[in-house]
Order: sequence, then C-alpha cells, then structure tokens
Amino acid sequence: MVTSYHRPTQLIIDSEAIRQNMHHLHTHRRPEEEVFAVVKANGYGHGAVPIAKIALEEGATGCCVATIDEAIELREAGIQAPVLILGIVDPQYLALISQYRFSIPLATSQWLREANKTYQQTPWENPIALHLAIDTGMGRIGFTNQAEVLQSYETIDELAGFFCEGIFTHFSTADEADQSYTNEQNQRFKAIIASLPKRPRYIHSANSASELWQESEGNLVRYGISLYGLNPSGNALDSPYPLIPALSLVSELVQVKQVPKGTKIGYGATYQTLDTEWIGTIPIGYADGFVRKLQGFHVLIDNHYCEIVGRVCMDQIMVRLPYELPVKEPVVLVGTMGEKSIELVDLATYIGTIHYEVACLFSERLPRIYKH
Ligand SMILES: *Cc1c(COP(=O)(O)O)cnc(C)c1O
Repeated sequence: MVTSYHRPTQLIIDSEAIRQNMHHLHTHRRPEEEVFAVVKANGYGHGAVPIAKIALEEGATGCCVATIDEAIELREAGIQAPVLILGIVDPQYLALISQYRFSIPLATSQWLREANKTYQQTPWENPIALHLAIDTGMGRIGFTNQAEVLQSYETIDELAGFFCEGIFTHFSTADEADQSYTNEQNQRFKAIIASLPKRPRYIHSANSASELWQESEGNLVRYGISLYGLNPSGNALDSPYPLIPALSLVSELVQVKQVPKGTKIGYGATYQTLDTEWIGTIPIGYADGFVRKLQGFHVLIDNHYCEIVGRVCMDQIMVRLPYELPVKEPVVLVGTMGEKSIELVDLATYIGTIHYEVACLFSERLPRIYKH
C-alpha cells in the first residue's frame, strides 16, 4: 500500500512525548535495569525506525522486534545497537542472523540441535547470541522443563556457532490487579535462574505492565506500550508515573452538506437523518485501519463530539455536524481538541478490543508525521 501524503489524513507522532515517557521510565526503573525499546509491528503503528532512534537517544540500550525483517529494517536505518528478535527464527536464516548480529530466542533443545547442524554444514563468522526463553506460564514459546533448560545451557557453551547472552520469560497477567499468577511465574523463573551455573549477560522478564506494577527479576526491561504513552491495562490500573500518548490521528472535512430529514447515509443505507442535518465527509476509512465497527463512534470537530453516521467505507466516513462548518475544518479522530480528547483506548473499548490492536491496525496509507 502506498502512503498517501497528498491527503489531510495523518498520524501525528509527538517525539517529545516519547522522550518524556523514557524520562519517566528512568526515574522509576531499578538502576541496574537496562531498557530495550520494543518497536515490533512498526513501533505499534508509530513507526519503528524513528521511535527506535528516539528511545536510543534517550537511554535505551537496545531494541526488540518480532521478526527478522523488522530487525533488518533497523540495521538498514543505521541502528547499530543490540536488536533482540522475540519470535522463533527458522534455523535456515541463521547466517543472516549472524551477519546482522541479531540476538534471538532459544525455546527448545530440538531447535538447538537443528541450528547446530546448520552451523556444521555452513559455518558463520560471528557466534549468534541466544536468549533462553522460559515458559513460566504464558504457554507461548520457551522451555517448560527445567532439566532441559540446564542441558541446553551447558550445550551452548560447547558450540562454536552460539553463545548464551540472556535468559527471559514473559508474564501473561502483569496488567491485572491480582498479582498472584505473575508471582507464580516469577517464582518459577527465579528457580531456574538460581539453578544456572553462571548468569548470562541479560536476565529479563519485565514488559511495560510488570515495570509499572510488579516486582520482576532481571536487569533488562522490554518496554513496549508505555514507551508510546499508553497504559498497558487500558483504564483498569493507574500508572505510578505519567504516560503521555504520542499518537494523534487528524484529518479535515472534505465536503459539508445540509440534508433533509429522512436522508439515507452510506452503504446499506443504515442511517437515516432524524431531522434536517449537516453531514460532513472525512477522507479516512477501513483501509487506513479505521475499522467498520467504529460506526456510531465519534470524532472531534470544532470542540464537538460528532457521531460517525452510516457505515465506515474503505476510504471515507460521514459524520453528523452540530451546525454548518467549512470544508477543511480540522478533525481529530485520536488525540485532543481543546478540553476534549479521544484516546486509543476509547476506540478500542468501543469496538471490543485493546488499544495495542487499534494502534497496530493503522495502515501504511497513513503518513506518520513526527513533531518536535
Ligand atoms: C510485545 C512484547 C513485549 C512488550 O510488551 P508491552 O506490553 O508492549 O510492554 C515484551 N516482551 C515480549 C516477549 C513481547 O512479545
């Protein structure tokens, strides 16, 4: 999809907010804790490279991504800092991993055997940094068996193509008030670390939620959603320090018309005006990630919440205006206008999902404009 620069619809990313969020994290984190900025999925829709660069300028010492290609994007943008890929990598790509000096997870002993076979066939130059993934209760990736962890840990030492750089786990309920399951996971992780003959460079378990609300093990935090100024719990728990949302979504009215009572609006004619109404059209739609379920939600225009009427189209939406407004009148779809605001979490709640997903859905068609 091509980015549409010649249209008033834009994502505005406030670089200063990202800097402030890093600053607040520094005042809160334990001093021995390093920060890796999680910029997977195009930096949660905010743009991976610009966000990574800001976070690194503000004291992050590395980045996390989900896939090899996301990691390559950072290197090609000149980022030399450590990059940890969080997803399992197919051993056929290990030469590439070595070439770019990426760190990757090790989640099973079977993978290690296969990876070593690949090395024996075609050795690479730089030994590959492995982070042992421990499944302490998330049920996603990682070792579930302590003996297997120890055995793999010792095996790595004997392999020329690899070294152990870290060990980590991931919490599944760190954004909830009830900490009991996180504590259970933490205990399992601690037991495994205690059983290692020596500690690797990085021990990590904290994501944003555990950094904000939990006691966690380790010397590294994988800081994702809160870097972008979003509360991991949505509205459920209060953040102990300010989180400043970095993303706004803005546009303009491209047409305004007055229509008589009983006028049908949009595909399926699902909305019919109740009176004489002013209807405005905004150039954004589900192809931008502004999903169809947002019908009936609102946008901000001239300090009024205006309802989205009729179906969300691929490229356009219609809203009911309080009175006549001119073409080019500014529209805020996410962000603040005067005293009022629309947060990502409001969109998420309206469509029955989480703000993580809403942010990731914003498509490549939307230009990302960095302010400050
Ligand atoms: C995505 C991810 C994170 C970041 O989580 P946030 O909730 O966004 O802070 C950390 N660790 C792992 C393994 C992840 O997959």
